Amino acid sequence: MRPVVDEELCIGCGNCAEICPAVFQLIEEKSKVVDPEACEFVGCCEAAAENCPVEAITLVED
Ligand code: SF4
Repeated sequence: MRPVVDEELCIGCGNCAEICPAVFQLIEEKSKVVDPEACEFVGCCEAAAENCPVEAITLVED
């Protein structure tokens, strides 16, 4: 599974980059997936998705 961010929905809150900084980075107030396989602990992408206030992060099959 890899995370995808819907930039139309993203409000740039930074939750995902705080939870999973190796995967998500805020660039120009939008979250970008900079390295989809760089989770620093098991499930941090899932946690980032769960903590996105606008449900902009989805996990898709490779
Ligand atoms: S948690 Fe959601 S709204 Fe917040 S920066 Fe990440 S993708 Fe955007």
